[in-house]
Amino acid sequence: MIEQPIIFDTSDGQQLRINMINSWFKNHYEELGLDAPAKIVKLSLDGGFTCPNRDGSKGTGGCLFCSESGSGDMASRAADDIEHALSKQIRLLSEKWPADKYDVKYLAYFQSHTNTYAPVEELRVKFEAALAAPDVVGLAIATRPDCLPDDVLDLLSELNKKTFLWVELGLQTIHDETARAMNLCHTLADYDNTVRRLTAHGIRVVTHLILGLPGESREMMLESVRYACRPIGDASESFIFGLKLHMLNVVRGSGMAQSMPDYIPFDSMEEYIDLLIAALEIVPPEITLHRISGDAPRSTLIAPEWSYKKRTILNNIHREMRQRNTWQGRRV
Ligand code: SF4
Repeated sequence: MIEQPIIFDTSDGQQLRINMINSWFKNHYEELGLDAPAKIVKLSLDGGFTCPNRDGSKGTGGCLFCSESGSGDMASRAADDIEHALSKQIRLLSEKWPADKYDVKYLAYFQSHTNTYAPVEELRVKFEAALAAPDVVGLAIATRPDCLPDDVLDLLSELNKKTFLWVELGLQTIHDETARAMNLCHTLADYDNTVRRLTAHGIRVVTHLILGLPGESREMMLESVRYACRPIGDASESFIFGLKLHMLNVVRGSGMAQSMPDYIPFDSMEEYIDLLIAALEIVPPEITLHRISGDAPRSTLIAPEWSYKKRTILNNIHREMRQRNTWQGRRV
């Protein structure tokens, strides 16, 4: 039998062998309530929340890799005025995606800290304010796997019925010993429970995994990918909606910068790309990829020192996949 490569996107002269979320948007614009494809841009917001792993209710000090901004270094602060923060982001991005050239629509991305960690009334006000902004067609909400009380789940379920929504869960690893060492203060059981509850309400789940955590072998990292991509529950055809994979970034201001300042997650970009491709090969083609490289700003990055070269990393990944004649899902 001849194995045919899956090419997920051929527009713009691309031959993408990965089901990147931007390609998915082009073919599923109706799910965003649009009549025609548009350029979908995520607007990163800091909603002014904190994190139960910082204020003592789950832990203190935060996850060891977390930056002072709560892993939202590119986010605009929106605690008091969501509309103002969204306009600021739109201004910042308008040079890249000028409105006179592109039909641009936005997803409001609550990125920093734990965006389900507040009274449900406060969450409702902030999420609805974001949805009311011009050209915002959906929400992406990042949170911990152990921070989804029933009233917040009910709110998300309500929003999910009227807009496009995904919830990002920062699992990072399935290995509880790594989770303990990195002070994540949540467990795989927390993640499983939250995935089950979200998917029972039809809410899309995007799982975030970090490659290169201290103490993890290549096989351990691939086990995390395999686990996150397994069918959910008894519905053997149902998967998480999306996956975020990237290398560990050691950044200034994080616990790691203090406790392991010399730790280097990968010896070279090539080593990371080789692992990433092995990971992509076991991700079912249905699952969308939301990130495959890091995005820590160069100003805060300690290691790996090449991690800020996002465009180079992405180009090399795509080129290497073509050269190996491989694709996402090849080994599923
Ligand atoms: S749960 Fe998220 S915001 Fe909280 S400390 Fe960990 S990475 Fe940072």
